[in-house]
Amino acid sequence: MTRSHAAVFERPGKPLAIEPFALPDSIEPGAALCKVRMGTICGSDLHTIFGRRQEPTPLILGHEIVGQIEALGPGLERDGFGNPLNIGDRVSWSIMASCGECFFCRRDLPQKCVALRKYGHTACTAPPHLTGGYAEHVYLFPGTAIYRVPEELSDEIATPANCALSTVIHAVEAIGVRSGETVLIQGAGLLGLNLIALCREAGAASIHVTDVSPARLELAARFGADHCWNLADQSTGGAAREIVQRTDGYGADVAFEVCGVSRAVADAVAALRIGGRYLVAGLVSPGSDLGLDGNQLTRKCLTLKGIHNYHPRHLGRALEFLQQHNKRYPYSELVGAVFPLDQINQAVQVAATGQFVRVAVRAGRAAP
Ligand SMILES: [Zn+2]
Ligand SMILES: [Zn+2]
Repeated sequence: MTRSHAAVFERPGKPLAIEPFALPDSIEPGAALCKVRMGTICGSDLHTIFGRRQEPTPLILGHEIVGQIEALGPGLERDGFGNPLNIGDRVSWSIMASCGECFFCRRDLPQKCVALRKYGHTACTAPPHLTGGYAEHVYLFPGTAIYRVPEELSDEIATPANCALSTVIHAVEAIGVRSGETVLIQGAGLLGLNLIALCREAGAASIHVTDVSPARLELAARFGADHCWNLADQSTGGAAREIVQRTDGYGADVAFEVCGVSRAVADAVAALRIGGRYLVAGLVSPGSDLGLDGNQLTRKCLTLKGIHNYHPRHLGRALEFLQQHNKRYPYSELVGAVFPLDQINQAVQVAATGQFVRVAVRAGRAAP
């Protein structure tokens, strides 16, 4: 086979169109060609499709992908765990490819590489064209961290792991969660749900989650949140007051912002104890003014830390975490619907309703 197909996004308001692409004649050293098994629709893809975020176009969207290796370039022999890589292996990979040599790569920030290439974010006009997940094939650039997916993990459980779970594994590593601590998680999207599981396994004594969606908070409770606060039902700061009261007036040890709402920062600062730690991972919109009283930061001796995306090693840890713990949490419910690739526009419409954490697309055609 020398041709493949992919769903191409051109502009908001125009349905995605299935278009043919030539498969590369040869695979460069360190690169790979994968058959797509499953791609899931992330909130960031919906932002692009509905015009809330700008990307280079025409574009093959989708960065949460599990594939099967169809061709390996010279020199690509082992996965990120050190296991041999072979044709036919089922794999997950980092959402980005990095050069390994630039200023940031040398400082262990490959996710900020000056030559960064992100899957689902690169225009499909130039070869190798196939760099997004809503497709039959995807080309993995040299400098991509590839991991064999443990056999016992279904595509539905493994596919979103290279986005949300990897990011929050980075978040927990960056700020630390210790046994017996009280945690506040602001946002019950996929980042927040994964954080509940990570904090629980780290030994957190009490996990508080805030959101404005009753459905998301219900799922947060089933992931093991001890206290769910619906911010739509109470005045700003209400949850913070409750957390302080429930900790004998001290406050939470650690808080995570994964809701993308900058006014959450003031709530977290109010909820944290003296010496507390705050990890900000969701404020990706320019102009996210923190509205923070610096006096509070100083007098409360707070640690404030930001992260964006993750280091390739976090994806390996994400797959290991799922392998060990996925059955203890409702991971199998995250993908609520699966569509064939040629029904990508229906899949997008269902994803946009927000009724499922993830909607998936599988390469292939609808049954006649
Ligand atoms: Zn994503
Ligand atoms: Zn680099």
